[in-house]
Amino acid sequence: MHEKKLETQLIHTGNGQFQKRINKSLTVPETLPVYLTSAYALEDVSALDEIQANKADGYLYSREAAPNADAVAEIIADADKGEQALVFASGMAAITTTVLAFVQTGDHIIAASVLYGGVYNFLANELARFGVEVSFVDMINENITPHIKPNTKLVYTETISNPLMAVPDIGRISETAHAHGLLVLLDNTFATPVIAKPLLLGADIVLYSATKYLGGHSDLVAGAVVAGRELISQIKRLQILYGCILSPHDCWLLARSLRTLGLRMKKHSENALAVAQFLEAHPKIEKVFYPGLVSSPSYERAQRQFSQGYSGGMLSVNLKGGEKAALALVKALAMIPFVPSLAGTSTTVSYPVKTSHRLYSQEERKKLGITDGLLRFSVGLEDSGDIIKEIGTALDEGAKP
Ligand code: PLP
Repeated sequence: MHEKKLETQLIHTGNGQFQKRINKSLTVPETLPVYLTSAYALEDVSALDEIQANKADGYLYSREAAPNADAVAEIIADADKGEQALVFASGMAAITTTVLAFVQTGDHIIAASVLYGGVYNFLANELARFGVEVSFVDMINENITPHIKPNTKLVYTETISNPLMAVPDIGRISETAHAHGLLVLLDNTFATPVIAKPLLLGADIVLYSATKYLGGHSDLVAGAVVAGRELISQIKRLQILYGCILSPHDCWLLARSLRTLGLRMKKHSENALAVAQFLEAHPKIEKVFYPGLVSSPSYERAQRQFSQGYSGGMLSVNLKGGEKAALALVKALAMIPFVPSLAGTSTTVSYPVKTSHRLYSQEERKKLGITDGLLRFSVGLEDSGDIIKEIGTALDEGAKP
């Protein structure tokens, strides 16, 4: 009998046969393992036929479907009370793929005037290359009806706007949009399903930068979309085509993070409210933007649309001393790093004019209220007293109006 050489044995031992043994075992791993495989071996060609005809279960190729991606998508869909979800390589991948799934040359989109800068850049500049027109509308104060055209296809906004923390009336926007046959896309990144479930308020599609609170530990970049089965199948067709999937490792990390999302959002919200109340009373602060403050124009909407009175961990402040005071405060903060992202365990500070919103022109920023004295805080999970002490000390020492 021919004895196989070592090189051949090393390649063929311990793979499929071992996996079949595990599959027949009476136990399962308590947590889902990381499935590091790009493809699946089939018994024969008829097995492929059965899977493709949906007569049998079976993964085939990991760009199309994979266990870790399916598992984490199931957690997110369930949290948002949606039928299905997909996870992506980033929030931008989720958002661009989803928008592209529903528009074509000649179509029109209505988008909120204040959005995360990357999304604004995509809508304002990139879609124009494909002949898709976008109207930016102040959805907090204005009705969308006068902006609807015969070729309008969808409405795009954020549950809590970045960086001014304004809250739109999701129910009213959805009602108007649906009366005209438009889809409503909601970026729920700042709120998360713990605080708001836009699908239950009337939206059709919920989008996430899962890099932020869903991940929550500043160690992965990911995105997600949640919607009904039919809409998801249209988005999935493009995801498979464009290949913007999330790796098994990152899916696993994201799934682990989601186990504590409820606890984290509660603490982020309690801490942010305490910090917002402290800052509101501080003489060097001109204005605090936080929907959980009774003084916020978004307070009533937040109370009506958000769960358990929570408003999340994001807040912004306008410093009386403008740019000089803002830059001095960033420098004076010792425990709070300057980070152009958000939603990790640590409190961080960002300067939207130079980070998330640098792609807006100066005139646009001025019109929208994104000033040179605006700082955005992502309030973390530390003790709230320590965060307040840190900001208070830095304000006293660093930010001279
Ligand atoms: N949406 C919001 C509200 C964001 O803040 C960001 C990024 O900061 C994105 C989308 C884009 O997500 P990502 O950076 O994961 O691509």
